[in-house]
Formats: sequence, structure tokens, C-alpha cells
Amino acid sequence: MAIAQVVLLPKKARPFYGRHPWVFPGAISHLEGGPEDGDEVLLVAHGGQAIARGFYNSQSKLRVRLYSWETEQSIDRTFFHARITAAVRLRASLGLMDPAGACRIINSEGDGLSGLTVDRFGPWLTIQITSLGIARRKGMVIECLLDILHPRGIYLRTEKGVGQLEGMDLRDGPVWGEEPKGPIRIKEAGLEIFVHLTEGQKTGYYLDQRDNRQWVARLAQGRSVLDAFCYSGGFGLHAAKAMAKSVVGLDQSEGALELARKNATHNGLGIEFHKAEVFGELAKRKEAGEKYGLVILDPPKFARSRGSVEEALSGYRRLQSLGMELLEPDGFLVVCCCSGLITMEQLEEIVHQVASTLKREVQILGRTGAAPDHPISITCPESGYLKCLTMRVLDKLGNSD
Ligand code: SAH
Repeated sequence: MAIAQVVLLPKKARPFYGRHPWVFPGAISHLEGGPEDGDEVLLVAHGGQAIARGFYNSQSKLRVRLYSWETEQSIDRTFFHARITAAVRLRASLGLMDPAGACRIINSEGDGLSGLTVDRFGPWLTIQITSLGIARRKGMVIECLLDILHPRGIYLRTEKGVGQLEGMDLRDGPVWGEEPKGPIRIKEAGLEIFVHLTEGQKTGYYLDQRDNRQWVARLAQGRSVLDAFCYSGGFGLHAAKAMAKSVVGLDQSEGALELARKNATHNGLGIEFHKAEVFGELAKRKEAGEKYGLVILDPPKFARSRGSVEEALSGYRRLQSLGMELLEPDGFLVVCCCSGLITMEQLEEIVHQVASTLKREVQILGRTGAAPDHPISITCPESGYLKCLTMRVLDKLGNSD
């Protein structure tokens, strides 16, 4: 049977020859062959040239997600097997396949598999599906994962609202093998971390921050550390292990703090965790004249849509201002931003504004992103969302000692 076609408008083909994987409705002229939602389609230029293969979804703003530029070959089990194998090969090359460790195995567009995220926590896998095309092929994807990784169990996690965006109905739950009972333990740079695969945020743990936590470990020795938005303790645990003078962790989620306390106790680390709303708590601590040698700000995504970017920027501005004011002279500030709609340049611009208002001098020590098991596709820069700035903040340059 001939494959259905999605025909582009004139002059709209260039991004797709350039291998961008998302086709928005505005680029499409018409359909041929009446594809159903989730069906494989061939994307063709207005003149009729075949460009790429993908999955169609009339209910999504990403009308077609493209996966393959081999226009003669179907996106079948062989295709998925090869893509997943290549993804696992990268993690093995990065030294991240220690059976007791954890890593991201598939990073959606970054691994050429738009809408599929798979994380490995020891012998367990969590899978997140954000496209209808992949949801329809869930069984096939799971078969490939079993064949390549032999997990003990696979657990499906969903993100609120995503099902609606794609017109699909997925529920959290085990999709293969055993279900992990309670939090499981993974190793990360000399620490043992409890991860709640079935209840924790995201797929259970923020693996993307793994390497940025090492930055913090490097700067923490002898300093009093404030880890705002600490979740299960990530940055603070590494700071404490690196001989920080003291560590305070703040989060508003009781579940996260429970895990954080368990992590600190299990690793023999003394950390004070407080349940608090970070903006209010930082302002309170500032009023009380508290100072820290290292402040980490790792908030959730503030900008969820283009319309909310301005508001998000002002949130980041307020946060950075509070963070900077809580620093001792010569203190270190680590600022993270996981809003894909906000760029590193914008983040630095905010630092610049805040520093000049507070009359501080800032030195950037590191501009980093997510750990390398979260690759970014060069043809889909949107697949890189995490930005992390590590800085030293001086009262005035040359006048700080
Ligand atoms: N730094 C963490 C990840 C942080 S995720 C790590 O390395 O693992 C963001 C965290 O911010 C979540 O745990 C969420 O519960 C918390 N959070 C979101 N908004 C908050 C607020 N206004 N005050 C306090 N915590 C908040």
C-alpha cells in the first residue's frame, strides 16, 4: 500500500531538508492518501520531491514529527532497534553504563527519537512518551529496549497536560516486568541516592544536572551552602560530601524533602532541610542578614509558553537578585534555568543587570548545559533546554580581600 503523503507549501521545505524534525501546520499545503493520526507519512516538497518520513498527528501542533531521511525505508522495528542501539552505544562510550548507576538512555530529538525519553536507574527503566506516533508503537519500543538492555522492569511516567496536547491517553504505571516497590538506590559520584521512580518528579531524578553537581562539589569546601529548590538533595548532598562547612536545602515539596533527608542520613551527611517557598524564604533570610559562601538556584521551568517569557524573566531576575544579596564577599553563585524558551544570553543579561544594580562584579566560571547523556541535535537546537551559570561574585573587582 502506498504511504500517505504530507505535501508542503511552496518555499517551506528548507528546514526539513536541513533535518529539523518538527512540521507545523503553517508549512503544510495538503494531505494525500488520508493518513490517520499516528500513521507513518512521507513528507514531500510542493514540487513532489520526497524529503523525509515521520508520524502524522492532526491533533498536535507538531503535525508531523520526522524521524528518517531515508525516504525509501519504513520507520519499523529495525529502525527503532538501530536508533536505540546507537543511543546506548553513546552512553557506554561516556562510561555511564555502570549497572549500579543511572543515565538517560534516550533523549527524544537529541537521539533522533522525537517524543521518546528513557532513563535507566540501575536495572530499572522509566519511559516517557510525548508523541502519539511513539505511543502507538509503544509495544515495539519496549521490545527493542528489552532486547538491548534486559531491564528488570519498565515503568511509564507521564507529564501533566502532554496527553492532551497530543490527543493521547497514557497513564503512569508498569509496562513490563516487575514494579519497583518504594525508592530504589543508585550511585552518583561516590554517593548513593534514593530515587522514587513511581512517584518522584519527572522520571524520578534530575539526571541532567549530574555534571553541574560536580561544579558545586568543586566549589563547596569550607563554605556555607544554600541549595534552593533542592528536590531530593542533589546539589546539597554533593556539597556536603565535598566538605562544605554547612548545607541548607530548601524545597516546597514534602515528598522531595523526605527523600532528601533519607539521602543525607544514608550517606552520613549533615544537611538541614526546610520546607519553604523559596522566594519568600530567601527574602526572609536576607532580611535576617544571613550570608552564604555558595548559593545554588535551580528553579523549575518558569516559561511554559512564549507569552510567559517576560514574566519568567522577571522571576529569574528576582531570584538572582536575592541569591546575590545572600552571598558573602567572594561567594559563588550557581544559577540554572530549564526554560527552553530562555537563552543563555538572556540569562547572562539578567546577571549583568542584577550585578550592576547591586554594584557587584561577576566572573563567569562555567557556562554549562545538561550532562552529555542528554545530547542536543545540531538540527534541533530546541532539544537543549538546560543552562547553568557558575559565577564568583565580588563586591567590587579588585577590592574584595
Ligand atoms: N536541584 C534539584 C532539582 C530541582 S527541581 C536536583 O539537583 O535534583 C525544582 C524543585 O523546585 C522541585 O523539587 C520543586 O518541588 C521545587 N519548587 C518549585 N517551586 C518552588 C518554590 N516556589 N519554592 C520552593 N520550592 C519550589
